[in-house]
Amino acid sequence: MTSLDDLPLRDELRGQSAYGAPQLDVAVRLNTNENPYPLPEPLVARIAERVAEAARGLNRYPDRDVVELRTELARYLGRTTGHLVGADQVWAANGSNEVIQQLLQAFGGPGRTAIGFEPSYSMHALISRGTGTAWVSGPRHADFTIDTGAARREIAALRPDVVFVCSPNNPTGTATDAETVLALYDAAQAAKPSLVVVDEAYGEFSHQPSLLPLIEGRPNLVLTRTMSKAFGAAGLRLGYLAADPAVVEAVQLVRLPYHLSAVNQATALAALEYTDTLLGYVEQLKAERDRVVTELRAFGYRVTDSDANFVQFGRFADGHGAWQAFLDRGVLIRDNGVPGWLRATTGTPGENSAFLDAAKAVFTTHS
Ligand code: PMP
Repeated sequence: MTSLDDLPLRDELRGQSAYGAPQLDVAVRLNTNENPYPLPEPLVARIAERVAEAARGLNRYPDRDVVELRTELARYLGRTTGHLVGADQVWAANGSNEVIQQLLQAFGGPGRTAIGFEPSYSMHALISRGTGTAWVSGPRHADFTIDTGAARREIAALRPDVVFVCSPNNPTGTATDAETVLALYDAAQAAKPSLVVVDEAYGEFSHQPSLLPLIEGRPNLVLTRTMSKAFGAAGLRLGYLAADPAVVEAVQLVRLPYHLSAVNQATALAALEYTDTLLGYVEQLKAERDRVVTELRAFGYRVTDSDANFVQFGRFADGHGAWQAFLDRGVLIRDNGVPGWLRATTGTPGENSAFLDAAKAVFTTHS
């Protein structure tokens, strides 16, 4: 049998593993930070309507520059953050992973370096490597907040081309405040200058306001967002960024022509019509997230403060053994490889209660 090692694979991909959260058929699936609520039926009907309309024009390529959707995403950002942005400051692609890939294609690449503060979203490193960008893992404090002093020193020494700040951070749930982002931005500009990407995939779930206003007057600061979490539309594949219009022009140099299908654009536009309903679910999930944090702490667990739709908890002597113990109780959570810690997505109240029942039992056997 041919193995990867037998192929003329690029050197930097040798020995790497593909992104692989297990997709198991388990009653309670709390492992990939999805929204547990299916889209409401009236929205499903509206999607069918808008997709039917798009289908009538599928003999033609879609709007290459995604103008209507970018306009609506800009309106959404302005309405929910209070910071107005124009459609020329917004860009959309197939999930924020593709947005990040386009940013790295434009601002990273061979001979260039990206840094992120780990543990953090593993795809920042993977997409960096995939685009030939060298990856450097920067430090965090023991409580998983960014160690600003150490990060500034690292940026000054490394002079990276791209700096990732994930807020709220996956897998820890930790928010980064504006002051820290500005300190890193200033350090990155003094060192190079470089592009600072604030990944706000879980922004809608945070206790703190969006970092979007920071893009004002900072052309090298980019904010990325997604409809996968707050909009409950992980299957849609729609991510976007907000930045200076010049950054939008830059990603257009590397995007594939017609990258965002007409069906995808129509579906996203329909979902945006239901923003208020979908953000209502976000409020329920935030309350449930806070309940899970409180109850886990009452059981005796250590829980990282969470601003996302998931919770990192521990500590376990054998994290993987504990992960298996949850699975044996019909609850699939995530072992992100952070020693001693596991991560559970916030589900419906019923799913969270099932998770908490399992957590109570696992505490006595594995903590
Ligand atoms: N950023 C972070 C921090 C994430 O956790 C995820 C999804 N797990 C993404 C980006 C990518 O999301 P998507 O491609 O679905 O928009």
